[in-house]
Amino acid sequence: MPAAPLTACHECDLLLQPVVLTLPRSRAHCPRCGARLYSFHRDRLEKILALTLAALVLLLTANLYPIVGLNIQGNYTETTVIGAVHHLWQDGREALGGLVLLTTVLMPAIELGAVLWLVLPLWLGRRSPAFAPVFRAFRLAHPWAMVEVFILGVLVSLVKLAHLADVLPGPAIWCFGGLMLLLAALAGLLDGHTLWQAWDEAHPDDEAKPA
Ligand SMILES: [Zn+2]
Repeated sequence: MPAAPLTACHECDLLLQPVVLTLPRSRAHCPRCGARLYSFHRDRLEKILALTLAALVLLLTANLYPIVGLNIQGNYTETTVIGAVHHLWQDGREALGGLVLLTTVLMPAIELGAVLWLVLPLWLGRRSPAFAPVFRAFRLAHPWAMVEVFILGVLVSLVKLAHLADVLPGPAIWCFGGLMLLLAALAGLLDGHTLWQAWDEAHPDDEAKPA
């Protein structure tokens, strides 16, 4: 007979038997240190989906529109994030360009795509194929999505450039700002327990199909 799965308290490492929360807005706390282990909100999947779709729209918009415009003695120039990566690459700073592309475009896109892949079928009462590998990819991508670091860097650069040229923030910078807030809200809502509990409750038809 297989051993019952245990969960560890993230504060004091106490091993506990997980409980299935079914009451709306219920929470599980560690009996030893009182830390909040996980919570259950019936409408959490809807909120995660709404935030993910909004974040995807902002990520797309942020990459289509200029992030900053510079007016230097009548010469106006503007660039998008992809344009900036292209310029860095041409200037021989391939590693820096690659890092900007990875942390600002690719990793947020992988993270949001993975959340959509996992949560949309669960919301419809189904299990998405390859749930566990995609969940691992999401956990792997999450620390590498650094939109907030990028925004901070851009703001510092804009302030430093302000005395050399007229600096005009482009639409993309507002989109990145919104994206930063949405990703933070999403991180607060998304936890493994919520997804796996929804997975347990979902209809297993799709999982039974061969990959
Ligand atoms: Zn504890």
